[in-house]
Amino acid sequence: MKGKNLAFSLAFIATLFAIFSLLPGSCADQMLKMEEKGMDENREEMIRVLIAYGVRDEKVLEAMRKVKRHKFLPAGYFSREAYGDHPLPIGYGQTISQPYIVAYMTEKIAPAAGEKVLEIGTGSGYQAAVLAELGADVYSIEIVPELASHSIEVLAGENYKCTVKCGDGYKGWPEHSPFSVIIVTCAPEKLPEKLVEQLAEGGRMILPLGSSHLQRLVILRKHGEKIATEEDLAVRFVPMVNGSEPMR
Ligand code: SAH
Repeated sequence: MKGKNLAFSLAFIATLFAIFSLLPGSCADQMLKMEEKGMDENREEMIRVLIAYGVRDEKVLEAMRKVKRHKFLPAGYFSREAYGDHPLPIGYGQTISQPYIVAYMTEKIAPAAGEKVLEIGTGSGYQAAVLAELGADVYSIEIVPELASHSIEVLAGENYKCTVKCGDGYKGWPEHSPFSVIIVTCAPEKLPEKLVEQLAEGGRMILPLGSSHLQRLVILRKHGEKIATEEDLAVRFVPMVNGSEPMR
């Protein structure tokens, strides 16, 4: 009896596949369009949540309204989940930050169009896309090779011109420095000196600082020899790993 049920289920699934593959191109396109429309609505709902949480910067809201967050999730993750206000796994033990934190950090450093921005921890590429949507000239470093290649592919597919490399964020990117803005999306225990060095005069940096259990967002501003720091929200990011022991 069980064997019969299994055979029946397999036949049923095979029939569904056959019907789907016979659908005319326009019909499949139609389904894709409906899916994208659903995503647009989910994204609008995400924006409503961000506003309810206090995000006010119209440019940031507009950028997040445009970036298709679901496209940045690696294959195998449910794109339906993309717009909930929570972090999501992106593989290799890493996560894409919750939309509110992306909006909050972006609002705090407010990159202007044309400003050179360095991101540490490309992950899925989503934060880089939001920065690019704001018109920033984005450089981003990711230590996990597979995530670096995934983000390069998605960013190009979505037409964002970001320069991404696989490497150790502690070293920064001296060839392209100084940066007007540095945004770190993984948490070091101590302030990475090289990043402070690569910050432009008048530049600002935002990073989660602390151990894996206790971190605070810190905002730095560089004025000549002086570095002004300001402690902000308590947060929880994945640790910034030591580049001498690359993680896989
Ligand atoms: N900004 C990302 C989310 C970042 S998750 C997004 O929008 O999806 C943090 C990322 O930092 C992870 O992908 C992790 O691999 C990376 N990371 C950790 N230590 C790093 C280091 N030393 N240098 C560069 N990237 C690092």
